[in-house]
Amino acid sequence: MKKHDFNPESLMMTHGYKPELSEGAIKCPIFQTSTFVFKTAEEGKAFFELAYGLREKSPKEELGLIYSRINNPNLEILENRLCLWDKADDCAVFESGMSAISTVLLEFLNPGDLLVYSNPLYGGTDHFIHHFLDKIGVHTIGVMPNQSTDEVIKMIEDSGKSDRLAMIYLETPANPTNDIVDIEKYSQIAKKFSTNDRKALVAVDNTYMGPLWQHPLQCGADLVLYSATKYIGGHSDLIAGAVLGNAELMLRVKTLRTFLGNMVSPHTAWLMLRSLETLKVRMDQQTKNAQIIADYLNNHPKIENVYYLGLLEEETEGYKTFRKQCSAPGAMVSFDIIGGEEEAFIFLNNLKLMKLAVSLGGTESLAEHPKTMTHAGVDEEQRQQMNITDQLVRLSIGVEHSGDLIWDLEQALEKVKLNPKLELEKL
Ligand SMILES: *Cc1c(COP(=O)(O)O)cnc(C)c1O
Repeated sequence: MKKHDFNPESLMMTHGYKPELSEGAIKCPIFQTSTFVFKTAEEGKAFFELAYGLREKSPKEELGLIYSRINNPNLEILENRLCLWDKADDCAVFESGMSAISTVLLEFLNPGDLLVYSNPLYGGTDHFIHHFLDKIGVHTIGVMPNQSTDEVIKMIEDSGKSDRLAMIYLETPANPTNDIVDIEKYSQIAKKFSTNDRKALVAVDNTYMGPLWQHPLQCGADLVLYSATKYIGGHSDLIAGAVLGNAELMLRVKTLRTFLGNMVSPHTAWLMLRSLETLKVRMDQQTKNAQIIADYLNNHPKIENVYYLGLLEEETEGYKTFRKQCSAPGAMVSFDIIGGEEEAFIFLNNLKLMKLAVSLGGTESLAEHPKTMTHAGVDEEQRQQMNITDQLVRLSIGVEHSGDLIWDLEQALEKVKLNPKLELEKL
């Protein structure tokens, strides 16, 4: 037989776990323990030498278990499995998406450095950049999804800090509008401003697409970040984060994690091991449902625009980037209801199956109003530029029967009474 490489979804149940080390248990138990017993003092000494980088690892040697802030089997197995989707050397899991993001920004940015980031960003990331990084003297430039390479290069040069460009931080597709950014384009820009001894890194928050259908490391990014609270956890019952990249960068991320102490707990890691087993089937069903719903909304007389990657028009810049870097359109759909906040709220208040809540990527469908909820803290002028208006509603589509979801949307939209003049204008 020819050698065969299993697909990640086939490995999610077994990869990295040895039943013989756990009494033959088919499933990985929870290693709910703070510390691990050394066989001998010599062994303890050898483990610490490796953990603190006091000597090189010998070829077959693995870091032994020491203390759950440094390492724990549930975290290690989870990290090994997450590496499979993104084809990364290594992964670090965190107690939240925000702790993954802030740890990366703290490790790779110093006072005086320049950070370029794409707009719109997740509200928490935006806050960390403008209320913390600003304070410690990191210079920042925000770029919009439609800006050309030449415009971005000119902004970096005009800042007078191009020799200090340390990181380009991207979020694509962007929350809540599904705007997409070309990762390869930005990795070329980062290259242009890198020298032999100072590499400008590209980090991508891939939460909105999830780990299956967009692989930023394969498009030239150096680090990929997730709020694992979303698709990876997938059941709206945990908060967690992850960072993946090459061995050298991940050693730095893991070292800072050891000293900030913001690793995920063994119990949450164990819940995520269970979640990963169904990641592919959940996301397949969610995307199938999302396309049906986007098509339905797109033909509804009370709806003006639908923002969904599966509805992008061919020949547009966004479509070309989508085809190049994503292999499916995902499960996030947003739309403009005709009218304003009043109409949007009537719609949201009348949903029966879908729940009115923030967050995304879970098995149940959720709906929210970005302008007054997830993006309430964003500057109004910026919100306008990004199409986050009174009319915008965001949906995260779950695994329910699509017929039930359509029924729910239809009955909630029926409750919305349009100003007759507005309806005529749409026709
Ligand atoms: C939710 C989210 C985060 C933050 O993750 P937490 O797990 O809530 O800390 C970061 N980025 C994006 C795109 C998100 O949707």
